[in-house]
Amino acid sequence: MGWFVDFRCPYCRYEEAGIGVGHGKSEFPYLALFCCDNCKSVGSTWIRESESPRCGACYQENVRLLADDVHSIECPKCGEPAFFARREGQWS
Ligand SMILES: [Zn+2]
Ligand SMILES: [Zn+2]
Repeated sequence: MGWFVDFRCPYCRYEEAGIGVGHGKSEFPYLALFCCDNCKSVGSTWIRESESPRCGACYQENVRLLADDVHSIECPKCGEPAFFARREGQWS
């Protein structure tokens, strides 16, 4: 079962709302959170067994994957602490 998170930086006000995380009925592919240093964005991307994950925004391959339950990271845009918050609701 997948869920959604909101990402918000209180400093520069960068935010991404309703990012899907987790997996549906099968184990692969699943959605994992990433932080991309190339385009300085946060989001989720599909993880497949035989492919390296790509940034959902700029499609480059060197994205940093984040733990499903990550609470805070340095904002990719301004470097200040920014936070993930789990939303109500699930997807499958
Ligand atoms: Zn920021
Ligand atoms: Zn990117």
